This record gives sequence, structure tokens and C-alpha cells, in this order.
Amino acid sequence: MNILVINCGSSSLKYQLINSDSEEVLAKGLCERIGIDGVLTYQPAGGEKEKSEIAMPTHNEAISAVLAALTGEKTGVVKSLAEINAVGHRVVHGGEKFTASCLIDDAAMKAIEECNDLAPLHNPANLIGIRTCQKLMPGVPNVAVFDTAFHQTMPEVAYTYGLPHEYYEKYPVRRYGFHGTSHRFVSAEAAKMLGKKPEDLKIIVCHLGNGASICAVDHGKSVDTSMGLTPLEGLVMGTRSGDIDPAIIEFVGKKEGLDLEGMNNVLNKKSGMLGISGVSSDGRDLGDAAAKGNKRAQLALDVFDYRVIKYIGAYAAAMNGVDAIAFTAGIGENNIEMRENVCAHLTYLGAELDKEKNNVRGEERIISTDASKVKLLLVPTNEELAIARDTLALVK
Ligand code: AMP
Repeated sequence: MNILVINCGSSSLKYQLINSDSEEVLAKGLCERIGIDGVLTYQPAGGEKEKSEIAMPTHNEAISAVLAALTGEKTGVVKSLAEINAVGHRVVHGGEKFTASCLIDDAAMKAIEECNDLAPLHNPANLIGIRTCQKLMPGVPNVAVFDTAFHQTMPEVAYTYGLPHEYYEKYPVRRYGFHGTSHRFVSAEAAKMLGKKPEDLKIIVCHLGNGASICAVDHGKSVDTSMGLTPLEGLVMGTRSGDIDPAIIEFVGKKEGLDLEGMNNVLNKKSGMLGISGVSSDGRDLGDAAAKGNKRAQLALDVFDYRVIKYIGAYAAAMNGVDAIAFTAGIGENNIEMRENVCAHLTYLGAELDKEKNNVRGEERIISTDASKVKLLLVPTNEELAIARDTLALVK
């Protein structure tokens, strides 16, 4: 079966066509500048990456362009749309309504729409992607895979904020968590690498990319995670502040003449490693700048690592122990020095990094010593494959 995986943003769209039998990616790419002009990137397996300017006033034209590329005469990977059997959509927020992926029908669309309030930038774009696929590929089943669903197993004690309880009852303000598809995939993969079942382990997954979150996975279930009502909470990220004293919002807002929206913009887009360094939000740029002696770039990297160390400690405590700690996503998979710095502070747990094994990027492997009580792992994430697997399971 061929499954089209779609990750729709407000002005961009990432896609992969995956053969679910071989789990091979047949083609992948992205649409950018939707609603502005339109650029399609398309890469068939084993082929060259092609970039073309195509007018994309709406997601309709963007998805049409993707389907035309996939079925194109020269570099297409399927003969016709009839060979695309299902579509899996990444949906950012499922609120408390969705505890797992689901086949999309009218009731599911309505329930996703009801979560728009919680992710006003993302969910409407996800819904547009689903509606467009329904229109362009009538009869082909669509599946929604939620960023939040894996974390719905969190206990009340972990998801409740220290706020008047009526805000939870009315709005519902609580910790939801994100990157759930990645945390689920990586924790399952880590268990496999250790020859165990997720149900037999306490795992801490560190998804460290431009957006970053940590998850405590106790016997296969998410029991706590660092992102909250929105992806702003927790770790210091590329441009997001992560945890701060909430009083800073009023204090700085007054001094800088910024209203709530202005401060929200600062905390999401101008803070984090970009804000601290004044150089870049990208870990590679910061590494280069720090190597040349830029102190604020080094501080940004140090603050990033320190917050990761603190959260790992918190989650080992929350689970009353930990068997394995897995690193994933852009920084987690590729930044050897970050893993070294973080793991140097985990010896109290009985985790011992093997520096030689750690000297690798983007490759699945155990990076702790054989004697290490807590296993350390590098596990490349693959959210698209996880979405394709869920889609297959629901349409089969
Ligand atoms: P993601 O959001 O998962 O794509 O991760 C993006 C982050 O990963 C950026 O901060 C990049 O600097 C970082 N990253 C990607 N590749 C590398 C690499 N080879 N070495 C160090 N950092 C990397």
C-alpha cells in the first residue's frame, strides 16, 4: 500500500510517499510560500532534488502540485492517483479529545476544529490539508496523527498547572505536550535496540531539535513531558524561551512597551538560543561562533545543555528511576559535544557514556559503555514513518 504523509503548516507543507510494505520512501519534498507565490521541492527515491516555482495561492494548488509531481511522466513514482491508497496527516493539537490516531470522518473533523483554539496557527492549516485531500482524492481514506495524543496518558498530577482550577474546567488549560509521535516512535525503537518491550522500561526521550522537548516514558506510557499547553514551555529552544518566571511578561512588557501579543512573539520567536546569543537559532552556527570565541554563543549552548540536564534529573525522579535515555532530532542526533556535556552530568544515575561510540551523527546506536547501568542511546526519529504505520493500521 502507498501512503501519502502530509504535514501542513500555515504557509508550507512537507510530504512523503511511503510504501507501507517495504517502508521505503518513494518520494519526498515540500511546498513553501503557499499564499505568497509557491515553490515545490520534489525528490524521487534515488533521484535528484527538483525545485520549481508553481503558483500556490492556497493549499489546494500546493497539494495538486505534489500529486502532479508524484504521478508525473518523467520523474513520477506512481502511474496514477489510484496508486495512492491512504493519506496520513500530522495534526498538532488533539486536546483531550484524541488519545490515539484516528480515521477521519465528519465527527473527527468537528472535534479537531474544536481544538483550533489551543493551536490557532497549526490546527486550521492541518484541517485545510485534510479537506484538500478529501476533495482531490475522493474515496481515499485520511488519518489524523496527533502530536499531543501520546501524552494523554499523563496523570493529573503531571498535567495540572498551579492555577485556579476553573481555568482547566472552562478552557481547558493544562499541560498537553507535543512531539508525541516522535517520543512514541523513539521510545519503542530504544526498547527494540535493548531487546526489551517498552512495557518493561523507564525511558527518558530527549527530542532536541529547533523545537525541543523531553518525555518521561514509564512502561510505554508518557507520564510527563516538558512542553505544556503550547510548545513554549520547557527546554530552551532555537527561538523559544522555554520555562521562565511568568512575571517577566508584565515586567519586560511594561518596560519595552509591548502588549501580550508582542511579548508572546518575543517568547516564541526572539528568545531561546537566538535571544541569548544574538547570533542564530541554529546549533551549528552557534558552535561555529563559539569556536571563534563568541561568548554569548557559548552561553546559549551551555544554557541549552543545562536545561536538558535538569529535565533529565526531574524525570528520573518523577519515574523513581530510569533504564535508558535516548537522544533524537537535529541536535540530539548530530551534536556530539552536547551529548558529551549532558551525559557528563548523568553519572550519578549510573549512566556512563562511551566517548568513542558517541562519536557519530544520525546513526542508530547504543552510546553508553557495556557496564553502564543506565543505557544511553542515539535514535534517529522518523515521524513520517510513524504516521504511515498508524495510517496503515487504521485503514487496513
Ligand atoms: P530539527 O528541528 O530536528 O530539524 O533540528 C534542527 C537543529 O539541529 C538545528 O539547531 C541544527 O543546527 C541542528 N543540527 C542539524 N544537523 C546538525 C549537525 N550535523 N551538527 C550539529 N547540529 C545539527
